[in-house]
Amino acid sequence: MIRPCLILFGPPGSGKGTQAKLLRQSLAVAHVSTGDMLRERMNSGDGLGKEVADLMQSGGLVPDEMVNLMVADRIEQPDCAGGFILDGFPRTVNQARLLSGLLEAKRIEPLVIHLKVDYNVIIARLSGRRQCPTCGALYGVSSNALKASEMTASEVCDYDGSRLVVRDDDREEVVLERLKAYERQTTPVLEYLRSAGYTCWDVEGASRPPQVIAKEIEELVRQKYGNPVGASETKKA
Ligand SMILES: [Zn+2]
Repeated sequence: MIRPCLILFGPPGSGKGTQAKLLRQSLAVAHVSTGDMLRERMNSGDGLGKEVADLMQSGGLVPDEMVNLMVADRIEQPDCAGGFILDGFPRTVNQARLLSGLLEAKRIEPLVIHLKVDYNVIIARLSGRRQCPTCGALYGVSSNALKASEMTASEVCDYDGSRLVVRDDDREEVVLERLKAYERQTTPVLEYLRSAGYTCWDVEGASRPPQVIAKEIEELVRQKYGNPVGASETKKA
């Protein structure tokens, strides 16, 4: 059986987390987030977990080889038997090189999904958010509200009437800087994966409802790995 392996990329604000959640359910695959994986490993207190904990406590970076070893281990867990989504890995070209070695050894062919977004949409959405400086309540548009009329948040807090402000993280120049940093980091990784011969798809994110985007990705997964995958099999039963 061909095990689906999705490598998911997407800038901040692209809805990557939402997609991972939706696809995990609809495709019945595991969601392997490297952040979660590192935390779980440290909590497990095994040899590798202790090494990682020591490294992080001393402010050091976890070497790529070590992360790759943990990924190798993680994708052999029972929940990954029907396929998995990699989220947050690989982040660098070196990690991509290690990962492709690992996947080749296991005869797993990944499908690379890059959630592309119009930066203007992300900036408009994030900079449209307001926060109450008194109680911290967040106001703003829902992730799908893109019309100008829906962008205007109320000017005062519903709870205490304080005048709402734009959070520092949501300021246009901060958002733009994060997006540029993402692009600098991700572009060479995607180029590496493409040149390694993996199927890479750009999927337009953020400006469409999450369910529509998820359906499109599911279709790409079925094209690549064949039908039925995971959940669709159980639905028929
Ligand atoms: Zn308030």
